[in-house]
Amino acid sequence: MTGAEPFDIAVIGAGMAGSSLAAECAPHARVLLIEAEDTPGYHTTGRSAAFWEEAYGGPSVYPLTAASGRFLREGGFLAPRGAMTIGGAADRARIEGLVEQFTALGVDIRLLGRAGIAQRVPGLKPAWQWGTWLPNCSDIDVGALHAHYLALGRQAGTIVRVRARVEALEQHGADWRIAWVGGAARAPLVVNAAGAWADSVAELAGAAPLGIRPLRRTIAQLRVVPAPPADLPLTFGVDGDFYFKPQAGRLWVSPHDETPDVARDVAPEEFDVALAIDRIGQVADWTVEAVERRWAGLRSFAPDRLPVYGFDSRREGFFWFAGQGGFGIQTAPAAARLGAQLLLGRPRDAMTERLDAACYSPARFGP
Ligand SMILES: Cc1cc2nc3c(=O)[nH]c(=O)nc-3n(C[C@H](O)[C@H](O)[C@H](O)COP(=O)(O)OP(=O)(O)OC[C@H]3O[C@@H](n4cnc5c(N)ncnc54)[C@H](O)[C@@H]3O)c2cc1C
Repeated sequence: MTGAEPFDIAVIGAGMAGSSLAAECAPHARVLLIEAEDTPGYHTTGRSAAFWEEAYGGPSVYPLTAASGRFLREGGFLAPRGAMTIGGAADRARIEGLVEQFTALGVDIRLLGRAGIAQRVPGLKPAWQWGTWLPNCSDIDVGALHAHYLALGRQAGTIVRVRARVEALEQHGADWRIAWVGGAARAPLVVNAAGAWADSVAELAGAAPLGIRPLRRTIAQLRVVPAPPADLPLTFGVDGDFYFKPQAGRLWVSPHDETPDVARDVAPEEFDVALAIDRIGQVADWTVEAVERRWAGLRSFAPDRLPVYGFDSRREGFFWFAGQGGFGIQTAPAAARLGAQLLLGRPRDAMTERLDAACYSPARFGP
């Protein structure tokens, strides 16, 4: 393989997933991190709502979120926010059910009545009567976390190639040949951290796609009157039809859309922005004065909505690190540590010892 630089591991995709995994592997292996765009983080990683919320993603994602918390807190990546899921009088049993379910897992989650939720969301309409309260929910400094992992990787020798969309993956003996326009490398291990493109990268490698589907999600930044208080909690509707949080005197609102899409540089649809404005109008007495920004990103899910970490059952040396859905930032530290341990055959440590890797393995989809 002339002209193909040798590495131990080639990681495809330099979003949060690929960058964090590369950084965890770099002290132990010669790592190449390959990114199609000019800038790592251009796609889903750069478009998140930036929160760490223990109940988000459900009970099987919770261990990854919880295991990441200490690293994020001690690294200075979190700022207190608090979260609520609110509902009407008829939703009391569902909200109590959430409190029970996540209390049993060890989450600090409490039941709030009307007074508790109205105190936290000024102008809350009377129909909203019950809520959960998660005091530990935090904002994440996504840019700082991503930059941290990129820097850590580079310090340990990771080579980062941008503007390098991998177009061919071929096995030659023990090595993969990884080719992009203008370059090539070889490595015995290839990591598929390509986000919304994960299934198509698998197809390049001759591996069976796992059905990882990109679903579009929209956020609108609204100027509202009165301005949201800085300590407004991240607030979800119990029907899963909106969430909002404050951002420097503005409101970030999502209609919680999950529209099937294709891997691309996705843009928001006017309909979804209008939906966000309509939903916020049903929650509180705020006047929307302007839509200042809007964006959309692709959240990529495996069929069971759990992430996929592990070796492909058929293609030797091909490792999945995909399907991070709507929780790929808040789970990144523990996911990357676990991913590196599985990839390199290294022992578990304090961060990962309680994680059940089998529940995230691609083997769960069959051979
Ligand atoms: C609106 C929205 C809000 C969200 N809010 C949160 C939140 O509050 N908290 C949270 O934890 N998560 C949140 N998420 C989810 C989180 O952003 C994702 O789980 C995470 O960013 C996924 O990271 P990734 O590296 O897998 O994907 P990406 O960031 O998309 O990275 C994949 C990279 O692979 C590259 N690539 C693809 N194909 C190739 C190829 N052939 N060759 C080279 N490179 C390639 C792409 O260019 C891309 O840069 C949110 C997502 C959205 C859309």
